[in-house]
Amino acid sequence: MYLCYLDESGTSSIPGNTSHFVLAGVSIPVWHWRDCDRELQEVRQRFALGESEIHVAWILRPYLEQRKIPRFDSLDYSERRRQVTAFRTNELLRLQRKGNSAGYRQARKNYAQTDAYVHLTHDERKSLVAETARRIGRWGFARLFAECIDKVHFSSVRNVEEVDQQSLEQVASRFERYLQLVGSGQDQRAFGLLIHDNNPTVAHRQTMLMREFHRTGTPWTDLESIIETPLFVDSSLTAMVQVADLCAYAMRRYLENGEYILFDLIFDRADRKDGIVVGVRHFTKPGCNCKICVAHRR
Ligand SMILES: [Zn+2]
Repeated sequence: MYLCYLDESGTSSIPGNTSHFVLAGVSIPVWHWRDCDRELQEVRQRFALGESEIHVAWILRPYLEQRKIPRFDSLDYSERRRQVTAFRTNELLRLQRKGNSAGYRQARKNYAQTDAYVHLTHDERKSLVAETARRIGRWGFARLFAECIDKVHFSSVRNVEEVDQQSLEQVASRFERYLQLVGSGQDQRAFGLLIHDNNPTVAHRQTMLMREFHRTGTPWTDLESIIETPLFVDSSLTAMVQVADLCAYAMRRYLENGEYILFDLIFDRADRKDGIVVGVRHFTKPGCNCKICVAHRR
């Protein structure tokens, strides 16, 4: 039995505020689940994160108040947290006094999403994410599947409503093919289950799409090995979904900004057949020479 954790990076709407939409799936055999979960816990402990989730986009943002606190780097964790919290409380009061309700709501949201990480400097937060990516990169038993859609190209050749459909179709088909290959020649078929970060809009749509795929197959394959519709879980509680979040983020940032450090750490896990990357695709105009396209057509 194989579990494939799914998460996306960027928005599927066109144009949205990102040029790419990435849906990533990370598959592991269930008998490795406990070790993976333990490794992620080790990393969280090393950075004094307790049970907090590793949500990469929020972790890697610049936290402006850290720059305004004198000698922030030389303070210990609890003092850093105390000073950032005091700074943020003041800022929220200031926005309220000014009657800036949009600014207040935005600040409150930012503070809530980043609260778990404020005791870490920007460099430490980068190390936290890199260390997590390095561990994932060493999981020889894990496979990465992804559809990375260049939305400018997509809107010129496809119906703009279908970004999410194409990405799920592709990732599910590639996971299915992988399962068929792993199970071939064995006494029993290898079965797989998709597990996704819960998001009410995505959940309904994906469930409907998967039911359709079970009935009629995807354009690429019948579903014989993937069972059920995706299970939806709370990513803040299910650490393995955060692995898919990190991979989706790393691929989108590589494609949009050329940031390759995280990408290089996780791309080894992309599913390959005869040395060619078959599990990850960059859907873009012909002639792209990014590392994904080169590895895909080699
Ligand atoms: Zn490319």
